[in-house]
Formats: sequence, structure tokens, C-alpha cells
Amino acid sequence: MRRKIAAGNWKMNGLRAQAAVVEALAAEHGGADCEVVICPPAPLIPLLAGLGSGFAIGGQDCHPAASGAHTGDLSAEMLADAGASHVIVGHSERRTDHGEDDALVRAKAEAAWRAGLVAIICIGETEAERDADRTLPVIDAQLAGSVPDGATGANTVIAYEPVWAIGTGRTPSPDDIEHVHRAIRAGLAGRFGADPSEAIRLLYGGSVKPGNAAEIFALSDVDGGLVGGASLKAEDFGPIIAAA
Ligand code: PGA
Repeated sequence: MRRKIAAGNWKMNGLRAQAAVVEALAAEHGGADCEVVICPPAPLIPLLAGLGSGFAIGGQDCHPAASGAHTGDLSAEMLADAGASHVIVGHSERRTDHGEDDALVRAKAEAAWRAGLVAIICIGETEAERDADRTLPVIDAQLAGSVPDGATGANTVIAYEPVWAIGTGRTPSPDDIEHVHRAIRAGLAGRFGADPSEAIRLLYGGSVKPGNAAEIFALSDVDGGLVGGASLKAEDFGPIIAAA
């Protein structure tokens, strides 16, 4: 039985005062059955990790290298040292804003493992790809390119985030989400074997809200959500944690 995950991706939002959201969530949902992962902007990682909330803390990106001449970048080792246990890699905003391709995302996932972090690897089709009926081939290619050999349920979480659903208030139908998640699971089984693939958790992301979380998380092969906008306020993320 895979334990569900409610993961919050704060993106480039939040100053130190935003720690109050984690305190409020911990007060109400500290004993939740699901795993809660909060991915704040990197400067907030030590603060949030020090709260003793019981929630896991994650970074939003890492460089493939452990250290070196890479001004402005952060290594997975630095995130771990700051108190993170997870890191998101390959988010569509990184793929778009920074031109990240599958090979780089794969290298970042390997860097996460090297530092002992769980890699939350993001994949998802654009609206044009979906309209052209290319969702599954695109997902397959991203899985093959972005997920390193050696992925297990312990070191990897995969987040399916249709690019057109992120921050738009639009979501695929439950049937469509289930269809894609089933295809992802089948693809992982073909590559890693049935048992390892059963242990890898698959999150849905893209306009998850208190009003749709329970329905989405109940779908087969959906093991929780990666939540952007609705993870910034305790009154929104609290019900999503409860749904997970
Ligand atoms: P959203 O973002 O929940 O605001 O749509 C999800 C994400 O980008 O991870």
C-alpha cells in the first residue's frame, strides 16, 4: 500500500512570515496519515526544517554537480545540509524558463539521490501536445529521458503535471488523469519491473484545490498531489492534506 503524499510547491512565493502557514498546518494536520512535503524557496528551508512540524521539507531545483563554479545555483548536498529531504526536479516552469531538457532533469535526479534526497520528477504535456493527441508519447519520452535507472519507491516520486493545468484553474477529467497515471505505471513496470514500479508514488499536479483534491486522490494510481497556488494558505492546503 503506497502512502499518499500532499506536496506543496511554493514556487517563488513566501518570506519568513510564511512559516506561520506551516505552523498552522502542523497544529491541525501534524498527525495526518499522508506524508506532507513542503517545498519553499530555498532561503526558507532551514527555518521550516527547524520548526519540528513533522512535515518533510523539499527544494524546488538543484544543480547536477555537488559544488563548483556555478554562480547562483544550489547543489542537492546544500539542500540536504539545510534540512531538506526532497527536491523537485524538471518542473515545467524550469523546463520552460530555463530551457531544461530531459537529460538535465535526469542528471538532477541522480544528484538528488547522491545527496540522499528523494527526487520528485515532474513530467507533463503542453496544451498543443494534448490537442494533437500526443499526451502519452510525450509522457513516455519524458519518463524515459528524465527518470534515471535505479528509480525506486524510496528515492523517487513522479509528478504528472499537464502544463496547461498549472495555475490555470483547469484540470483534466478524472478519467483522463487516471488514464495517464495508468500509462505511467505501465511504463515504469516495463522498465523497472512490476514490484518496483508499484512502489513508486505518482502525484497529480495542476490546479489541485480543496474542492477537487478528494476526487483526484481517490483515482487509481494517483498517490497524492503536487500543489502550487493552493499550498500557500493553511485554509486551502489543510483540506488538501485531509483529502490525502
Ligand atoms: P498549481 O501548480 O497547483 O498552482 O496549478 C502546481 C505546480 O506547478 O506544481
